[in-house]
Amino acid sequence: MDVGIARLWWVQAAKAKQNDKGLHLMNRWQYILAAIGAIAILGITNKDLIMDTWDRFTNRRIRNLHPIIRDKVSGAINRLDRMGIKVRITKDGHFRSFELQDELYAIGRTKDLHLPKVTNARAGESWHNYALAVDVVEIKNGKALWSNPRWEIIAREFEREGFEWGGRWTRKDRPHFQFRNGLSISQAKNIYLNGQRDARGFILV
Ligand SMILES: [Zn+2]
Repeated sequence: MDVGIARLWWVQAAKAKQNDKGLHLMNRWQYILAAIGAIAILGITNKDLIMDTWDRFTNRRIRNLHPIIRDKVSGAINRLDRMGIKVRITKDGHFRSFELQDELYAIGRTKDLHLPKVTNARAGESWHNYALAVDVVEIKNGKALWSNPRWEIIAREFEREGFEWGGRWTRKDRPHFQFRNGLSISQAKNIYLNGQRDARGFILV
């Protein structure tokens, strides 16, 4: 074979190999980028888009609430925040299972007799059991203000969102706000017991 031709062939072959390699590398990067993109999109669509508040505890607890009240709760909390009132959803003040409700009902009645009663509702009798109620408290200097002169202001913002306030009841429950959406508690219980619930267990209201 002529040396010139052989040399040309070798150069061409090397170039082709290089191109080939380049192409593969590019494909691999495109593949990786596509995978990252797919994961990001799945992450965004899987995560409920919820308006965050000033407080990470509250943000986590809002995710346990019925989807129809999540924006209402964060809306009220964010307006209060802008007024300088930092409100937090309490530890058990969001969704409560029937089991947890009965445990709380027992406190001060059949167990922990030295403690005051926590609730007057048994399993199924509280809007918390349907994720349609929240208990909130103002936080100041890292402490919860249970006897708070600003309850009326807090209540106004939740009432604007359509919540009923426990502070208006004869047996006052100031931290408590519930969203009935026109239902009675027994109607809500029937919807629950009839299994009219979405995939995540929230009653269809
Ligand atoms: Zn409550």
